[in-house]
Amino acid sequence: MLDLKKLLDGSLSSIDFSVEVDNCDFVDETVSGSAFAKGVITNHSGVILLNGEIKTDLQVSCARCGCDFNYSEPIPLTAKITDKLANEDEEEFILMTDFAIDADELVRSAIILELPNKFLCREDCKGLCPKCGKNLNEGSCSCDTTDRDPRWDVLKDFFGD
Ligand SMILES: [Zn+2]
Ligand SMILES: [Zn+2]
Repeated sequence: MLDLKKLLDGSLSSIDFSVEVDNCDFVDETVSGSAFAKGVITNHSGVILLNGEIKTDLQVSCARCGCDFNYSEPIPLTAKITDKLANEDEEEFILMTDFAIDADELVRSAIILELPNKFLCREDCKGLCPKCGKNLNEGSCSCDTTDRDPRWDVLKDFFGD
């Protein structure tokens, strides 16, 4: 827990924090690795704001070709902290308990929220050949590719023949 008492009673104007999450496999079974969050919490005339960034160092699997690769996109971390939830805007706020917040939990939920729900090793990953399983990023195979992609049929239905 991160104690905010000194921020709330005015003896500090900001509090630095850092959180390390060693094991990120809570996101998805294809994710392992670690994340490191750093930031500052400030008191703006009673409004407690948290600003920081999460650096990720994750091993993930490509959703198309299945190769493992390293994913290290930074994740922004921002939150407003309150001691009681108003009726409106509740989602924006993090609730503190006994003048402290669970920074570890905050970082974990930001990772879950902000990571893409599938990873691609690259934007134009060609994936695997559905027939022979060859990784088409490494070159084309000799399979008969005159089979139409069924996804085109949907478009064809939509636009008419
Ligand atoms: Zn891929
Ligand atoms: Zn093939």
